[in-house]
Amino acid sequence: MTDSAHRLEEPQPGYVARTLLRWFMRPARVAAVAAISDNFRLIDLEGDALKNIDWTVGQKLQISMGTGLTARTYTPMSWDPEHGRTRLLAFMHGDAPGSRWVEGLREGDMCQFLGPRRSLDPSGIEAPLVLFGDETSFALASALSAVRRLRPILIFEVTDIAQSRSVLEGIGLGDATVIARASDDAHLGAAAGAVVAHASAGVHFVLTGRAAAIQHVNRALRAAGVGSSRMKAKAYWAPGKTGLD
Ligand SMILES: Cc1cc2nc3c(=O)[nH]c(=O)nc-3n(C[C@H](O)[C@H](O)[C@H](O)COP(=O)(O)OP(=O)(O)OC[C@H]3O[C@@H](n4cnc5c(N)ncnc54)[C@H](O)[C@@H]3O)c2cc1C
Repeated sequence: MTDSAHRLEEPQPGYVARTLLRWFMRPARVAAVAAISDNFRLIDLEGDALKNIDWTVGQKLQISMGTGLTARTYTPMSWDPEHGRTRLLAFMHGDAPGSRWVEGLREGDMCQFLGPRRSLDPSGIEAPLVLFGDETSFALASALSAVRRLRPILIFEVTDIAQSRSVLEGIGLGDATVIARASDDAHLGAAAGAVVAHASAGVHFVLTGRAAAIQHVNRALRAAGVGSSRMKAKAYWAPGKTGLD
């Protein structure tokens, strides 16, 4: 089936959903979509609604999937308020609304968004900083790394090591540590160990991505004496849950 045929078959929002979308959401045009690997897309959005926005690193955008009020959450990598432009890095994990939306996106498409809105509380995020996450955290990693004073150490659990390394190198994060995700979570000991190895006095930690991995690393950090004032955590997804956030 062609992309356009596929899109014609998507159910359209009903009257109530359309009205709510008009009230609360704002339009953006897809300025560019770059397929930087099989499962990752760099997406540039532009439009007047993105101009003069006071964006902070770590905030989220909620994007309507075009059917009813279903939305999915992505993290701006950067924001140019003067020209009204932002960039997302989206991971397509499988057959679900967000992944399908990303896969079907073409330059010139329109979308509706809410935000940017607060997600991770940026206050108190200080260097030295360690970010633990996964494929869904690459955009946040890029945004945090662009803040000169932060320069975080990056540690990710990922499904496809070669693909993730190539994407990370492509966005200038080639120094990141990537750890292969095991289906039984046997890798979490090594992942937590890699994070805890940095747990000396004064180091701050940001944990994002898969809920169970965050919990595991969080416990290991606490056991190593890292208090909550030095940790920020935000689950981006969990198996069996949809559209977390
Ligand atoms: C604050 C915030 C910021 C985020 N930023 C980004 C971002 O910048 N880039 C990005 O790609 N994602 C990001 N995410 C994660 C993204 O919103 C989720 O992965 C979302 O679930 C994807 O929607 P979906 O419709 O594809 O899957 P859903 O319909 O939401 O989920 C269906 C099922 O797919 C599985 N699933 C969901 N996500 C994943 C995954 N990543 N890997 C493997 N299985 C999964 C789960 O079992 C889930 O039950 C962010 C999430 C939050 C809360």
